[in-house]
Amino acid sequence: MGKGFFQVPVAVNEPVRSYAPGSPERESVLKQYKEFYNSTVDVPLYIGSEEIRTGNTRTMSPPHDHKHVVGTYHLAEKNHVEKAISTALEAREKWANLSWEQRAAIFLKAADLIAGPYRDKMNASTMIAQSKNIHQAEIDAACEIIDFLRFNVEYMTQIYSDQPVSDDGIWNRVEYRPLEGFVYAITPFNFTAIAGNLPTSAAMMGNVVVWKPSDHQIFSAKVIVDVLKEAGLPDGVINVVYGDPVMITDTLLDSPDFAGIHFTGSTEVFKGLWKKIGNNIDRYKTYPRIVGETGGKDFIIAHPSSNAKQVATAITRGAFEFQGQKCSAASRVYLPKSLAQEVLDFVKKDIESFKMGSPENMENFITAVIHEGSFDKLAGFIDRAKADKEAEVFAGGNYDKSKGYFVQPTVIVTTDPQYVTMTTELFGPVVTVYVYEDQKWSETLKLVDNTSEYGLTGAVFSADRYTIEEATKALQNSAGNFYINDKPTGAVVGQQPFGGARASGTNDKAGSMQNLLRWVSPRLIKETFVSPTDYRYPFLG
Ligand code: NAD
Repeated sequence: MGKGFFQVPVAVNEPVRSYAPGSPERESVLKQYKEFYNSTVDVPLYIGSEEIRTGNTRTMSPPHDHKHVVGTYHLAEKNHVEKAISTALEAREKWANLSWEQRAAIFLKAADLIAGPYRDKMNASTMIAQSKNIHQAEIDAACEIIDFLRFNVEYMTQIYSDQPVSDDGIWNRVEYRPLEGFVYAITPFNFTAIAGNLPTSAAMMGNVVVWKPSDHQIFSAKVIVDVLKEAGLPDGVINVVYGDPVMITDTLLDSPDFAGIHFTGSTEVFKGLWKKIGNNIDRYKTYPRIVGETGGKDFIIAHPSSNAKQVATAITRGAFEFQGQKCSAASRVYLPKSLAQEVLDFVKKDIESFKMGSPENMENFITAVIHEGSFDKLAGFIDRAKADKEAEVFAGGNYDKSKGYFVQPTVIVTTDPQYVTMTTELFGPVVTVYVYEDQKWSETLKLVDNTSEYGLTGAVFSADRYTIEEATKALQNSAGNFYINDKPTGAVVGQQPFGGARASGTNDKAGSMQNLLRWVSPRLIKETFVSPTDYRYPFLG
């Protein structure tokens, strides 16, 4: 603390720009897109002040044009990962002891840089690296990351100001210490904002970090590094490595100074990390914090009283935006028989109106899925549904990877509520619908609750308040983010803290105070002003 109880600027959500035809922002981001697209960048490892080029490189290509190369990145060897650990630990003392307001200023400045001079770079790199249309890029790589940075600064001050009461003659104080060691941040491909948030939220609370981005997000991860450097983040606070995830992880988790993991990605990978941490538990100086947000099999259930067009729009947006590659994307839908055909016909019409292709053409609502592995997996499930007698491909069902990894948004209708695509996370533009008998509403709620191992997001549509309450209770543990008459995607920092339980994660709610609390270890300091001089209590006489 400096010399004052400083108040940080009140956080407000960054307004989403429209990019409508003729708008200056549209022209500006397309210019940046072209600039990135028609040049190449060489992305080094960032360890301390050093930019390390190992010479062992991989190329980076847009998913919508996979033969086109936009750059290379360098793979770390074990010694680089070890160097990242020692560099982080060397930076720790100074960083952990820096006044909180200086830390806050760095991240507030980063938010302003992204809102201003870096906005086009953040968006264009995300359009290229992850094949997002401009709206999906803007709500992620600009607005959400800005919100994370600004709101987290505010939450940090709320945490610091949470202090115990003090009795007469004493003063109780709590200081929120950074963890004793380093934090390992592992980020997924699908949100540039998550890539930015996982290392910075821990760093904001005074921790040092080793960050491993996804191989499929490195192009936009580099822009985040550029922003943090310009914002004045001291060298060594966040160190960035890429390469073999198993080698990198094993090296980091073997360190006695490993103090916490901040992960977002698939359930299987997270479970593997947890097991490794468990096996290594005797090595560590402190019990590591384990924070992971993982997969989902997110549902929409419509009551017979709901509005068919509203349900259809929630499916169209909730299942297909960003090609369904959101952990929150609707992927299993329960429709009452009396409404099903109407809803399905609306969704089919929407799909037929979609344009699909490069995000550079802003008429395209749908762009490509992230990589060939994902494309092949999705094509396999679509083919299986075409062949299986308990499933029907009602809409979509085409795919083509000749230029980019394009999968047409697809609706499967199944007669089996346990059909493979009702239970497995596909992470693509494929949604499966099960039609239930209207009178089986309450039974269907149980089905929704029991069908999946996940518990991330879900939505109920109904015009009947009694059934809304019934669903809210019956599905209490089915989703960490539960939506009434709205799609299950699109959580906004500061408004809908995000995360789920069961196989969906530790539910530490990204973009909330709960998350930041995982990156501190409180120390209580009790001071007595006039210390006792006699051990005898009055009852002893
Ligand atoms: P992923 O699990 O394949 O990869 C995530 C990260 O883990 C990447 O950095 C990857 O390189 C790394 N990784 C992969 N294998 C590893 C291993 N064996 N050891 C250590 N690290 C390893 O996930 P993805 O494809 O990048 O992202 C999609 C997944 O993320 C989906 O399951 C989605 O539901 C989930 N997700 C969840 C949330 C949430 O908030 N719950 C948000 C976004 C994404």
